[in-house]
Amino acid sequence: ANQTLDVTTFISARAHHGVTAFIDASTGRRLTFSDLWRAVESVSSSLSDFGIRKGDVVLLLSPNSIFFPIVCHSVMSLGAIITTTNPLNTNREINKQIADSKPVLAFTIPELLPKLAESNLPIVLIGSGSGKGKIVSTLDEMMTKEPNRNRVKERVTQDDTATLLYSSGTTGASKGVISSHRNLIAMVQTVIGRFQLEDQQTFLCTVPMFHIYGLVAFATGLIASGATVVILPKFEIHDMLSAIGMYKVTYLPLVPPILVALVNNADQIRKKYDLRSLKWAISGGAPLSKELTEGFIEKFPGVTIMQGYGLTETTGIGASTDTMEESRRYGTAGMLSSNMEAKIVDPDSGKALEVNQTGELWLKGPTVMKGYFSNAEATASTVDSSGWLRTGDLCYIDEDGFIFVVDRLKELIKYKGYQVPPAELEALLLMHPEVDDCAVIPFPDKDVGQFPMAYVVRKNGSNLCEKGVMEFVAKQVAPYKRIRAVAFIGSVPKNPSGKILRKDLIQLATSTTSRL
Ligand code: ATP
Repeated sequence: ANQTLDVTTFISARAHHGVTAFIDASTGRRLTFSDLWRAVESVSSSLSDFGIRKGDVVLLLSPNSIFFPIVCHSVMSLGAIITTTNPLNTNREINKQIADSKPVLAFTIPELLPKLAESNLPIVLIGSGSGKGKIVSTLDEMMTKEPNRNRVKERVTQDDTATLLYSSGTTGASKGVISSHRNLIAMVQTVIGRFQLEDQQTFLCTVPMFHIYGLVAFATGLIASGATVVILPKFEIHDMLSAIGMYKVTYLPLVPPILVALVNNADQIRKKYDLRSLKWAISGGAPLSKELTEGFIEKFPGVTIMQGYGLTETTGIGASTDTMEESRRYGTAGMLSSNMEAKIVDPDSGKALEVNQTGELWLKGPTVMKGYFSNAEATASTVDSSGWLRTGDLCYIDEDGFIFVVDRLKELIKYKGYQVPPAELEALLLMHPEVDDCAVIPFPDKDVGQFPMAYVVRKNGSNLCEKGVMEFVAKQVAPYKRIRAVAFIGSVPKNPSGKILRKDLIQLATSTTSRL
C-alpha cells in the first residue's frame, strides 16, 4: 500500500541509532546506524548534485568494505540503480558489463582504477590514494559534505529498479538481473523472519558483497534488524577465525568450499581460535553434501549449521533450513520462504509433478526478479506470464515440504540416453576416506555422447589410484552413472559463490586428452 517505501527506509536510525551497524575488521572502523543514515543522506545529495537521476545506473567495483552499503543505499535512495562486479574480473569482463549496463558513474578503490582505464567513466574514489582516471570526487568528500536539505527528491516507488546484479555465468553467459525495491523489501522480510534476531546478533561477512548472497544479507537484508555486521575485505581463513573471537561473532555465513576447509582442519582450528560465541553457520550458493553437514556437526558441536538456497533471479534466499533438526534432513536445501510458492515441473512435458518426483523447480513470489536487463527474450523464457520463474534446478519436494536440489539441469551429463547428475557422484566421492575434494564433468565422446569424468584432490599421503576411484563409485551406482575417466588435481577451481567451474575443467580435460 505504501508506494513510496524504498529499501533504504529500513536504515532505521531512530530505532537503532547508537547500535553499531558495520565494523571494518581490517581497520577497526565502526559505523552506527545513525552514521550510516547520515552518510547516505550526504552521499545521495552529492550524487544528485552530480546529476544522478532516477533510472541512472551506477557501477560499484570494490571489495567488501563498510563503504559498500553506503554507496548502494545512496544510489538506491535516489531511485538510481546499483550494478556491482567482481573485483577479480578481467578488464575485458568489466568492459563487457559496462557496455551492457551503461553506467553513468563508477565508484572504485585506487588499486582497481586500472580496471576502469578504458571505460572513460567519471569516477568517485573510495579511500585515499591516487591513480589515472577521470576522478570527479572522493567518497570521503561526499560523506563529509552537508546534505542539501532543500533539494527536490524524486519519488521512488516499490516497482522502481534498485539493483542490476550479474548472474555468476556458471552455466552460460552472465546475465544482468534487475531487482526492484519491492524485491529487496520482500527479501528484508525473509531475512528478518529466518534469523533469530530478537537478541543483538553479530554477523561476519566474508562472502562477496558484489554477489547476491553478500548483497542481500549484509548491504540490505539486515539493515532493519539492528544486527551488527563485521566486514572482511576478502576471505582469508586466519582473519576470519580471529575476527570471530575478537568481535564475538554469532552468525557466520559461508560457501561450501570454506566449510570443507573448516571441517578438514577442525582440530587445529578449535585449539588455536576462540569460537565460543559462534552459534550459527550458514551455507549457501552451492550444494552442501550430507558428508560435509555431518562432518561439521561432529567437529563443531554447539554450532547450528543452516542452509540457504537461492538465485540472483530470486533476489537471494528462496528456501532455507533454520534448525538443526531441519539440517539433519541431509541433502535438503530447506523449506520454501514463507512469501514464495513452488512447483516441480517435468522439463519435457511441462506438466506439474507430485510429491517426491524429480523435475525442474519453479518459484513464484515477491522476490522474483523483474527480468533480465535489455534481454526480453531471455526474460520470456525464464519467467512466464503468471510470474513463475524457472530455476534451472532439478529438484524434488518431499511430503513435509522440504526441497532437495538434485543438480542443475544444464549440468546433467548425457551418457547414451541417460542423464547423470554430477553432484550425486561428487557427494559419493567425498565419502571416500582419501578424497579431499572432487569435481565430476561431462567428457565428450563420439560413441556415448558424454561420460562422467572425475577430477580428484587426494588427501595428503594418499596413494589412491584411478582404478580405486572408479571401483569405489561403480560399487554404489547403476552402470550408466559410472565414472569412466579420472585425473588427479591440486585443487578444484570454484567461483566466489562456491560453485565448481566445470567449464574450466572441461576445457582442461579436452585439451589434455587431445595432446596425448
Ligand atoms: P548463471 O545462471 O549465469 O550460470 P549462476 O546461476 O551460477 O549463474 P547464481 O545466481 O550465483 O548464478 O547461482 C544460482 C544457483 O546456485 C542456483 O540455481 C543453484 O543451482 C545454486 N545454489 C544456490 N544455493 C544452493 C544450495 N543451497 N544448494 C544447491 N544449489 C544451490
